[in-house]
Amino acid sequence: MQNSEPANSGSADLGTNSLNSKWEYSNLPLNVMISADFSEEEVAAINDMEGSWNSTVDNFRFFRTPASITPNLDYSDIVNYADNVLGVYKSYDWFSNVSSDALAVTQYFGRKINPGTSAEYLEITHADIIMNYRFYTFSLNPSFGAYDLPSVILHELGHVLGLKHVYDYSIESVMQPYLLSQTQERSLYVADEIAINDKYSSTVTSAIKTKNVIQPKKVIGENVRGIIEMRPNGPCVHRQILP
Ligand SMILES: [Zn+2]
Repeated sequence: MQNSEPANSGSADLGTNSLNSKWEYSNLPLNVMISADFSEEEVAAINDMEGSWNSTVDNFRFFRTPASITPNLDYSDIVNYADNVLGVYKSYDWFSNVSSDALAVTQYFGRKINPGTSAEYLEITHADIIMNYRFYTFSLNPSFGAYDLPSVILHELGHVLGLKHVYDYSIESVMQPYLLSQTQERSLYVADEIAINDKYSSTVTSAIKTKNVIQPKKVIGENVRGIIEMRPNGPCVHRQILP
């Protein structure tokens, strides 16, 4: 797979080589809040997209819906989003160290668990979705030059849950790494449902089954920060950086 790299980035796109990442069962459902700068209709659409992911695993929710509203955060340095609120925000100025081509980014923080072993994975501890309102227009209806807000959100929420991109274009998936303007991808495909079930169903069932059983001790490794950029014309870029 050929990957483009932001001109201002020193690290290569991880593609599918990034660690398997997921949230601890005890942190689910996630309380992903929505910026007060989104309109009522946009908030409803974002809630619908959170609901789509919720409907993929029986009797289980990934996101608390309806989502709470939170004041918009518009930092000049993206690292400042590391707080206690998981949020969907509008950036009006964008960031000097993130490509201006990115429609939106999901920034996540996590820590490596069981490093160096076959059981190694990344435990996500924080994530935010930040939309690029400086360089792009988003819409709820197809309109010339605008990008479909729900489609971008559905894809980014997949990243929040730890899903990687699907680079095989013969597979229909909302996790394909790019989106064209006016294109609507507002519903999950079978491949997306399988991917999220694969990632979490063992977590969910083992957590229920072993409620009273002592969990194996986790070895905690280094902290990790990652930025996943969604691009309109080329594959979205996944960089992992140390905090
Ligand atoms: Zn992406």
